[in-house]
Amino acid sequence: MDNKLENEPETDRQKTETKVIGLTGGIGSGKTTVAKIIGENGFPVYYSDSRAKDLVNEDPELKTRITGLLGEEAYDESGLYNRKYVSGKVFEDTELLARLNETVHPAVRKDFLKWLALQKQEMVFKETALLFEINLEKECFRTLLVTADDNLRMKRVMDRVGKTYRQVEAIMDNQMPEKEKIRKADYIICNNTSLENLESETEEVLKKILEDVREDESQAQS
Ligand code: ATP
Repeated sequence: MDNKLENEPETDRQKTETKVIGLTGGIGSGKTTVAKIIGENGFPVYYSDSRAKDLVNEDPELKTRITGLLGEEAYDESGLYNRKYVSGKVFEDTELLARLNETVHPAVRKDFLKWLALQKQEMVFKETALLFEINLEKECFRTLLVTADDNLRMKRVMDRVGKTYRQVEAIMDNQMPEKEKIRKADYIICNNTSLENLESETEEVLKKILEDVREDESQAQS
């Protein structure tokens, strides 16, 4: 990527609140790929799902809550999160899955706010599988949705992690329908073609978001 966006931190910029852009998409939509492109363009990205995987092992308070919800078996003998056990428990129990999510989210939110306080740029991105599902859009300046046709998402996930058709289908069925997310999102990237196109489309959307952020800032200052 040679034509980087002009997003260097402006030292003489009057410090205004950093704008948070929520980045989401269903399984296999390409949201992590888009997040990486955004990072390569110099914008900070907080990876909620990946941080959550660390926090279940690092945050003592969260560990206690998870054990309270799922039992001691949620952690193995060495104290490490037993992902296999937990997945098995919540796989067919959507209510328990929702309660687990409700347990993990406050810890992720707290960790995100700590991270956000250290950011100096005018906008940052929060990549997360669940956004509209937990009304996180209220905490974001704007939302960016990555979407792709179901058959492509299915193929990409099966190629990537070797999940079965049925497993991916069950996850898709549990997620908020694409139509509803499209209706709620401020910006949409449609990832139905090549990775090259995804890169250029992401850079186009980034320019648009940056314009909107700057317009909002100049309105706030005038
Ligand atoms: P998950 O919710 O499962 O984490 P995701 O939305 O983060 O999925 P990615 O991990 O970014 O999706 O993409 C899923 C897979 O599809 C990856 O292996 C990625 O490299 C591939 N992929 C994404 N976009 C494209 C594309 N346009 N063409 C080909 N492969 C793609």
